[in-house]
Amino acid sequence: MASAGTIAALAELALPTVSDPALRRIGSKLVAGTRLDQADGHAMYRSHDLLGLGALADAVNRAKHGDVVTFASNQHINPTNICVLRTTCTFCGYARLPKEAGAYRYTLAQVLGEASNAADGLTREFHIVGGLDMQAGLAYYQEMFRALKSNFPHVHIKALTAVEIAHIARIEKMSWTDVLIALREAGLDTMPGGGAETFSAAVRDRIAGKKLAGADYIGVHRAAHALGIRSNCTMLYGHVETLDDRMEHLQMLRDLQDETGGFLAYIPLAYHPDDNELGRELLRQGQATGGVDDLKMLAVGRLFLDNFAHVKSHWIMVSQAVSQVALHFGVNDLEGTVVREKIYHAVGAHTPQAMTLDAILGLIRGAGKIPAERDSFYNILRTFDAAAPVPVPA
Ligand code: SF4
Repeated sequence: MASAGTIAALAELALPTVSDPALRRIGSKLVAGTRLDQADGHAMYRSHDLLGLGALADAVNRAKHGDVVTFASNQHINPTNICVLRTTCTFCGYARLPKEAGAYRYTLAQVLGEASNAADGLTREFHIVGGLDMQAGLAYYQEMFRALKSNFPHVHIKALTAVEIAHIARIEKMSWTDVLIALREAGLDTMPGGGAETFSAAVRDRIAGKKLAGADYIGVHRAAHALGIRSNCTMLYGHVETLDDRMEHLQMLRDLQDETGGFLAYIPLAYHPDDNELGRELLRQGQATGGVDDLKMLAVGRLFLDNFAHVKSHWIMVSQAVSQVALHFGVNDLEGTVVREKIYHAVGAHTPQAMTLDAILGLIRGAGKIPAERDSFYNILRTFDAAAPVPVPA
């Protein structure tokens, strides 16, 4: 983490570019080392001084990471889309009931077949998430993780959201902690941050009525952190949530991070309205969130979550173009070379399903940044050459 002095010095340099008086006050707090509060969060979301907000977030980000932007070579595996909450998560277009057309649950052979891309030795992480499937209990995932570790011992397993852990605990009649211990013994290394949606009870009632409560999402992550299992965290935005809801959510994440220090990264996730009930209810189609809101979500996350080292842009959800600009709005990490991502494409994400190494290097260099490949704990494995000059048309 950067020293307070470095953050203050870079924030001071950024201040002259900030025109909104409310943002200038926030910049002065950064210079003074004063923690931002929820009222500051509201002011940042409301401000139309987008470049000023970006300058402040960029100052803090550069104090922590310089010009280095990391990515991981990972592979997403979604082993089952069968989910008991199929009819109550109205924003989800991925889940199916067991007998519904398109429902699937991978056999172990199918999981290993998808994972075989990792035989190239370049994939360093499996990102494994799926539905809440009554037939995919503890034994299903223990067998999967053991087989993956046996066949691909060099690959880190980041798997199962807090919602999935709680589901397994419920059907196995075990505690969250006991499930986590059993999965760790089978090969689980870290947990992804999905399933957070927006913590507010009112929002959850509307878009995910039966899903694990926000406080319990925090509780599962607390249990994981107590065992030394690090995790990511997310917020789904751009649906029916208010600014109060966003700030309540960020406050809960910051409070747990103060308590445990177990979060690796914060990843805001843009809601996609196509092919799901909520999108039809809201009469929305196409990209629901705008580029400005996408950038604000990342910048506010960087500034309010002062105890987080890493803020990630998920290019599958906001596009590669927005993710590239986001590298100047507080983002230091990009979702990596993702092979065959299904969940967000099931709800209408129009982005490609994978980026090659060359493409992600080009994206980072094009922003004037230095690409670096990292492992799942954000240790830098190799740094690529410094940013190439931005091409200028003749
Ligand atoms: S969002 Fe997750 S829990 Fe909800 S229906 Fe979709 S797969 Fe199931």
